[in-house]
Amino acid sequence: METIYALSTAPGRAGVAVIRVSGAGARDAISHLTGAEAPRPREAALRRFRDPETGAALDRGLVLFFEGPNSFSGEDVAEFHIHGGRAVVAAMLRCLGHMNFLRAAMPGEFTRRAFENGKMDLTAVEGLADLIDAETEAQRVQALRQMEGALGALYEGWRARLMKALAYAEAEIDFPDEEVPGDLIAKLGPDIETLSREIAAHLDDGRKGERLRDGVEVAIVGPPNAGKSSLLNRLARREAAIVSDEAGTTRDVLEVRLDLGGVPVTLADTAGLREAVGAVEQEGVRRALARATKADLRIVVAAPGEGTDFTLARDGDIRVMNKTDLGGRAGEGVIGVSALTGEGLDALEAVLREKAGAAYEAQEHPLITRARHREGLAECAASLGRAGDALRAGRDAELVAEDLRLAARALGRITGRVDVEDLLDVIFRDFCIGK
Ligand code: GDP
Repeated sequence: METIYALSTAPGRAGVAVIRVSGAGARDAISHLTGAEAPRPREAALRRFRDPETGAALDRGLVLFFEGPNSFSGEDVAEFHIHGGRAVVAAMLRCLGHMNFLRAAMPGEFTRRAFENGKMDLTAVEGLADLIDAETEAQRVQALRQMEGALGALYEGWRARLMKALAYAEAEIDFPDEEVPGDLIAKLGPDIETLSREIAAHLDDGRKGERLRDGVEVAIVGPPNAGKSSLLNRLARREAAIVSDEAGTTRDVLEVRLDLGGVPVTLADTAGLREAVGAVEQEGVRRALARATKADLRIVVAAPGEGTDFTLARDGDIRVMNKTDLGGRAGEGVIGVSALTGEGLDALEAVLREKAGAAYEAQEHPLITRARHREGLAECAASLGRAGDALRAGRDAELVAEDLRLAARALGRITGRVDVEDLLDVIFRDFCIGK
């Protein structure tokens, strides 16, 4: 395995920059740059760094040495904490580049080595990527939890139970005449059923984890003058922590990115929608609703004098009666607000947060955060279902075993325990260099 190096902090001017080196040559990289032995593992040492070829001083800073396997990557790792000036970083990288036992790291390569050395499973790797990308508090909490292994532990726990069931089925195959305690159905039936139920419940999560990771799309719809734009501005002004001009903003739909109590939300209102609504009222609203169907959540707004029924609202929509200051009334399942005075906005935000997924923090189990997990789980559930059917139909233990094996394999692919070569490039591609 070659020894790799990279700048691990963001490029650009900063107080401190960190360069990491991972691999068998990490010690030598330290001695070449400092003219001394590596410090004791995990103890910071203040050193002067010099160009090994000319002896010219480069900078002064901290060196840390981590001896594998007790390091991030599982290999020997050196860290140089230097001043974050562009020229300082460039000079250090140039000297490392001249050492023939080192090469520049590729994106995600440190983390890939951590995975390959068993320091992290794939869900933890994904959690780390999400943590680096996290923009809001709720995203950070979810990512940290996943990085620390909550999701991996859940899936590995299920996989272990599957392996145990598989062992029983295999014992039946290998020793059909032996006295296997109880018959196979009695032994495996309940386990398979419980596991199926747990996985189904995990899958049936309203995609909260994925929404939190990707951002929740919320559309505001309602008749003209109900106060949609005012509401959007209210929500944006009060909570806007992320204002972005990111791609995805179509020309006629105005999007505002909000940090709503830690949940990343994209609120859509719109010039385009409003014109359509203005033209032919009911038909316009219907069209606006149709366009809003792709949103994860919809806020349907009504207001006194502007249409006060919610016939266009569907199950799951958030119903808001605006202009309470003009006599708008809250009702059963309807939140009363005033975009003018701000009344009721806390309640609206609370409902938005709840629906958008912030409630996950209180949940016992970690959530699915990627389509990749969902696909693996669905595959596992399907195989498990077949195993249960075969069992009940009194089929050969071999058939049951085969489906159990497939179910376990599907989970193993999520955590990266089995057979994932083809997935790795895709997963690590999202990382930046130095991670
Ligand atoms: P939209 O067409 O649904 O986007 O509605 P607007 O946000 O443009 O609001 C229409 C009109 O209603 C504007 O004159 C707003 O100032 C007014 N408006 C919006 N919300 C309230 C409210 O809560 N109370 C009062 N009194 N007026 C409001």
